[in-house]
Amino acid sequence: MPRLRTLFCFFLLFIASPLEASVEIALKGQSPVVIDEIYLREGVSYLPADDALEAINLQGDWDSVEHVYRIKTPRGTAVISPGSRYLRLGERFVPLEHPPRFLDGRLRVAEDLISRHLPSLLRLPVYYRNLNPTTVSTQGEESSLDRLFAFLLRKKKPADNGSSLRGVAIDPGHGGQQDPGAIGPGGIKEKDAALEVSIKLQKQLKMRLGIPVFISRDGDYALDREQRLKPATHPEADALILLHAQASFREEPRGVTLFIRPFEENPEEGDRDESVRLATHIREAMETADLEVDGIIQAPLLPLGRGNLPTVLIEMGYLTNTEDRQMLQNPEEQQKLAEAIFEGLETFAERQEKTQ
Ligand SMILES: [Zn+2]
Repeated sequence: MPRLRTLFCFFLLFIASPLEASVEIALKGQSPVVIDEIYLREGVSYLPADDALEAINLQGDWDSVEHVYRIKTPRGTAVISPGSRYLRLGERFVPLEHPPRFLDGRLRVAEDLISRHLPSLLRLPVYYRNLNPTTVSTQGEESSLDRLFAFLLRKKKPADNGSSLRGVAIDPGHGGQQDPGAIGPGGIKEKDAALEVSIKLQKQLKMRLGIPVFISRDGDYALDREQRLKPATHPEADALILLHAQASFREEPRGVTLFIRPFEENPEEGDRDESVRLATHIREAMETADLEVDGIIQAPLLPLGRGNLPTVLIEMGYLTNTEDRQMLQNPEEQQKLAEAIFEGLETFAERQEKTQ
């Protein structure tokens, strides 16, 4: 038994190195290309985007200004970006379970993008085989580029003025012509739903708590990364709410999903991340308002950043689900959502006062 265990440990050590895993990719009628540089993260194989695309006769380019990766396809340009859970092709948004990420200096995509999403989207006859399929989960070191993309959101110790929630930062997702976000049947756009609920939430916070709100956009325009981040870095921003809506291939998925950054990314001790508490209060308020909540998910998503600023990304529902879509389009329902988020924030602030 001890020997077996030793062997297993070695296996774990080696599995983290990229050279131990490889995949075979081919377009129908062509000889397969073997890609060795596979990184395993949380049981998912990540392939270098450039190499994997080349194997299926596509070409991608990193745009360092917009922080997106554009893939030229016979059906138009597909766009992905590190940390983003969508692939956009024209007006279509394809949800990705595993966002692309920078690992060891290169943009890498999860294997299902090459084996499943691109083939079905482009009707490409792709042959794909993982030569070392494994479900071993590894926690590798992240590269400096990973760190560069995962910005730090730091909350300073609350001021001694008695108020624990001095101000709230809100980021309505997407915006502008280039970035409508997800689009649902009938043309409903994620960017519009996100903005409507954000403005209503802003009003609630100002009216009922009388605190300042720092909002990344108050109209339909595009933002660069700095502009999007600016409200959250305001010294008085004690919480950050990011509002989005999602899309699915199927009609059935529905409900609100709350995303927070993973606990293990918590900074030093005594400096705890209060995101889970904030998300829990928001979920409770939503359930009280009879809104369907799917759950609270810990995810290493780019917009959640790192640090200790209580941050919740709210996917307010599915634009591809009839009931959710009606809710996200209806001003009264938007108001209900905004009020539930407000109440979650209010409870979060009250409880914080009690514990201090
Ligand atoms: Zn979004």
